[in-house]
Amino acid sequence: MNLETFYTLSYGLYIISAQTKKKKNGYVANTAFQVTAEPSQLAISCNKDNLSAEVIAESGFFSVSVLAQDASKEIIGRFGYKSGKEIDKFEKTQFFESPEGIPVVTENCVAWFTCKVVKTIDVGTHLLFIGEVLDGDFLEKGKTPLTYDYYHKKRHGLSPKNAPTYIRPVTEKPPEQAVQKPETAAGQKWICLVCDHVYDPAEGDPEAGIAPGTPFEELPDDWACPVCGAEKADFESYNG
Ligand code: FE
Repeated sequence: MNLETFYTLSYGLYIISAQTKKKKNGYVANTAFQVTAEPSQLAISCNKDNLSAEVIAESGFFSVSVLAQDASKEIIGRFGYKSGKEIDKFEKTQFFESPEGIPVVTENCVAWFTCKVVKTIDVGTHLLFIGEVLDGDFLEKGKTPLTYDYYHKKRHGLSPKNAPTYIRPVTEKPPEQAVQKPETAAGQKWICLVCDHVYDPAEGDPEAGIAPGTPFEELPDDWACPVCGAEKADFESYNG
C-alpha cells in the first residue's frame, strides 16, 4: 500500500469546539464534512484519546470553525498540538457562546457552524459524530479557507499524531531513531518532538526573522516552533 495516496484526498482545516459545565475544549481537524443537505448534517471524526471526544460525547453539541488560509501558526499550534488536559486553549482565543452554550472560535476563521449530535459511530481509534446543523454564518466573507493541501505544501504543516489522516512522512526518521550529533553536520536538521515540524538551517525561519543558513544552535533562546510553539529544548537533531 502506498500511504501517500491518502494525500490525494482533499480536505479543509477546522477548529472543532465543545464544552461541558466543567470543561471547554477544541482541536484542529481536517475531517469535518457535510453528509446530508436536508436536514443539513456535518460529520466529524475525533480520536478517543482526545479530551474533545469526551466533551462532545457528554455535551451532545459541537461547533466547527473554518480556518482561514492565513490563520496564524499560534492558533494552529494551540488547538492542533496542545492537549486541553494541560492548557486552557480558550484563555487567549477569541470566541463566542451559542444559545446552546457551544463555544465557537472566531479568530483566524472564515465561517462557523453549530451542531447537535444526532448519532455517534465507533470506528475504532476514533468516534464519528454526526451533527445536525443548528446555525452558521460567515465571519469574514470572501476570505479564503485553509485547505489541508495548502497547509502541507505551502506551509509545511503536518497532521498531529491523533488525526485520522496522520501519516509519518516517509522522508523523516521517527524521533526515537534520531541520531544526536555534537556538531551541526551538513544536511542535519532538527525535528520538533511535539508536532514533527522540521527546522532546516538551510531555510531558516523567515517568518520569525531567522535568515536562511542560521544553525539551530544560533537561534535565539526564545525562538519557538513556528507550528506548535514548543521550545528549542523540544527539538532533536537528525540527518534528514
Ligand atoms: Fe512543533
